[in-house]
Amino acid sequence: MSHHDERTFVMAKPDAVQRGLTGEIVTRLEERGLKLVGAKFMQIDQELAEQHYGEHSDKPFFDELVEFITSGPVMAMVWQGADATRQVRQMMGATDPADAAPGTIRGDYGLDLGQNIIHGSDHEDEGANEREIELFFDEDELVDYSRSDEPWVY
Ligand code: ADP
Ligand code: MG
Repeated sequence: MSHHDERTFVMAKPDAVQRGLTGEIVTRLEERGLKLVGAKFMQIDQELAEQHYGEHSDKPFFDELVEFITSGPVMAMVWQGADATRQVRQMMGATDPADAAPGTIRGDYGLDLGQNIIHGSDHEDEGANEREIELFFDEDELVDYSRSDEPWVY
């Protein structure tokens, strides 16, 4: 894999879908030069939610988190590009929108820690991106293609 082939898992959370921010999230990542290689509009069930947020199962907010992420449809996505995992995290902003810088997705659209618009794989958790992609997508649901502007991005 060349350096710009890193993939990361991103999700427009139920609040983003309900507020009509799905397109805005896609637009921001797309305009940055990241490439959409997989997308699924779906309803997360209890089991998938508990798996996806397994690292937080001991936290006091776990039940609330699972309830929220299963409360309505989400847009699950895979984005590809140079250092994609870390770049998406930077574009998302801090976990608590109150601390997220203006210009970031959470900083521009969120006010609440629980309903913070977007999920992206943790770049500090080695392999989290590929684990999350595998949890939500079969490999044959991911598309391999060149975007025509790629030579102008890299
Ligand atoms: P991130 O989504 O930035 O990776 P975490 O992995 O730490 O953040 O937490 C997962 C999600 O759980 C957060 O996006 C947020 O919606 C929720 N969350 C985190 N901490 C709290 C908290 N203290 N109280 C309520 N919800 C929280
Ligand atoms: Mg996290």
